[in-house]
Amino acid sequence: MTIKIIVAGPRGKMGSETIRMLQHEDTLQLVACIDRKNDGKTLKDVNGQPALNVPIYENPLECFQQHADADVLIDLTVPDAGYVHTKTALENHIRPVVGTSGFTNDQISALSKLSTETKTGCIIAPNFAVGAVLMMQFAKMAAKFFPDVEIIEKHHDQKLDAPSGSAIKTAQLIKGTRKKKQQGHPNEEETIKGSRGANVDDMRIHSVRLPGLIAHQEVIFGGAGQTLTIKHDSISRDSFMDGIKFAVQQVMKLDKLIYGLENVLDME
Ligand code: NAP
Repeated sequence: MTIKIIVAGPRGKMGSETIRMLQHEDTLQLVACIDRKNDGKTLKDVNGQPALNVPIYENPLECFQQHADADVLIDLTVPDAGYVHTKTALENHIRPVVGTSGFTNDQISALSKLSTETKTGCIIAPNFAVGAVLMMQFAKMAAKFFPDVEIIEKHHDQKLDAPSGSAIKTAQLIKGTRKKKQQGHPNEEETIKGSRGANVDDMRIHSVRLPGLIAHQEVIFGGAGQTLTIKHDSISRDSFMDGIKFAVQQVMKLDKLIYGLENVLDME
């Protein structure tokens, strides 16, 4: 069976990599794109885009109505637009696979409710790299034994949100197994504000933004006489493509929202 796909954000770094990936997949067919530019054109008419006769729409509703037989929306944009795209897709029974990071908890709850009401599957994954998903799971395991932990995430300098969705997800997973603890010295004082990073449930998240980076994270645990570092590096955006492909296949079987790739991967 061929899965018909709409990509939102085709000119972006992730969107263009995804379109390259789709071109090599026999069972996945790109049928349309949603973009804030180039309304009414096709991809082949846009500079730097592949020579594909795929229509571009600025208005997501128009796109979904014109391509009512599409199966999946892959959203790789920005939080505000991505939320509208995802909500509109669910209202039109097109299953969203969302890589866009920065949705609030309230937005995820509202989308989850809508997904259940419309019986339309949806996967939101802060990280589609399988290695990163494993890194988060290993961190969750380690937190049971090491309550002292700091998360350092590093990304390219064009990233809009900080901390990264993956760092927030890691902290949420760790919170499930870690004995709550006030870390550091009780009288610790920041002489320069922000120097100790963001405080999430008394864990610290540090965000590094530099050109040359893609997506990297270290979770460092400290105990008596030892440290444990769990580290993952996405050294190219290829690292996300297997996870996106897998999520597209899985979302076809769902009738509710799943948050996190680990909840559709067989982790046994
Ligand atoms: P990017 O290169 O900046 O691409 C974002 C694209 O979205 C751009 O083409 C941008 O267009 C477009 N856009 C902005 N506002 C829009 C709107 N209102 N309507 C429609 N399109 C709009 O970023 P990226 O690196 O590809 O990342 C895209 C998203 O994926 C980000 O949220 C990022 O954090 C996330 N991400 C997720 C994963 C994962 O594994 N889940 C991995 C990497 C990145 P303009 O060029 O006109 O601004």
